[in-house]
Amino acid sequence: MKRETWRLRLAAHRYGRKLKRSVSRGTSSDNSSASADQEPVATTTEKVINDNLVQHVVAVKMFSRTFPTSNVWVLHDGNEAALIDSGYGDKPSIDARREYFRKDWSGHNFKRIAMTHHHFDHSSGGRQLRDILKADTAIHPIDDALLHTPLGPEEGNEDLPDDKVITDRADVWKKEAFETPIDVMMEDGDTFKVGGLTVRAVHTPGHTAGHNCYLVEETMQLFTGDNILGVGTSAIGPPPSGNMGDYIESLKRMRELEAKLFAPGHGPTVTATAAKVQELLDHREVRDRQIIDIIDKGYDTDQQIRRALYPEIQKGLRRAAHGQVRSHIAKMVGQGIMQVDEIDDGKTWKVSLTK
Ligand SMILES: [Zn+2]
Repeated sequence: MKRETWRLRLAAHRYGRKLKRSVSRGTSSDNSSASADQEPVATTTEKVINDNLVQHVVAVKMFSRTFPTSNVWVLHDGNEAALIDSGYGDKPSIDARREYFRKDWSGHNFKRIAMTHHHFDHSSGGRQLRDILKADTAIHPIDDALLHTPLGPEEGNEDLPDDKVITDRADVWKKEAFETPIDVMMEDGDTFKVGGLTVRAVHTPGHTAGHNCYLVEETMQLFTGDNILGVGTSAIGPPPSGNMGDYIESLKRMRELEAKLFAPGHGPTVTATAAKVQELLDHREVRDRQIIDIIDKGYDTDQQIRRALYPEIQKGLRRAAHGQVRSHIAKMVGQGIMQVDEIDDGKTWKVSLTK
């Protein structure tokens, strides 16, 4: 759920800090009266997972606040390399990555930046990294369409807390994501090579309609995007942005791959892959059951259900929790378990169990 995603991002940041490797200053202003705290500072962290895989995280701090982080994975073999996801597209993040790739990867030929999905924490670095690395960009065609659909001021921020500093920053990320050109469409089963490694797209909708995981066939490592995170559970928005029913099916499909390692969109790698998938499937089943019980007790709108399910949630996370409740309800409507009447122009969902 979204609240957990946010908590996870903070956890991912703490995790990254332990691996701190180098600190680079972001955009610096010439105005000497500006306090150091107002200058964005990018902290670059790198973790070598194995002979073919490196995790790269940039955390940007400004106004005493650390922005959420996401993973960029460097898959490499011989002198060839590819990125899975492109991180954030703000200047401090890009400057930090430019420096990292120039210093540590100058002998490598970067062939591709394969994105798991269109959300700006995974795509907005794409345009600039494509230029820096001279690599082509790839994504599933459905998420290519979503990437290039302009977002309204309130859209696309569902994963973020209601916080002015962060939502202002999101405007930069949205613009960069929208302007990211995609060179190659990767549909289910499409592959590309990195040295002797074969990377196969596995279409796994749910978090977004065109979400791809990427399986490295020779090593059985799976890049899970936001379908499976290193810690916690991921946010599945209500339709049309997300689809809980598809998500459950995608988790089952990911289980069938029997991957040895999950490299997620946020947080650390997961080696107990089968247990992780089961944990997520169980979590969703428990939530379904809780919502049915709450409706049984007489609560009959989505807001009431949200309040009953998360009584103590802080204000900035309510919107996210609400989206999570709606996605579970929408799934159960699809299963014929409940029905919904929209009232107040769809602002409220009146929910009842089908008898
Ligand atoms: Zn994400």
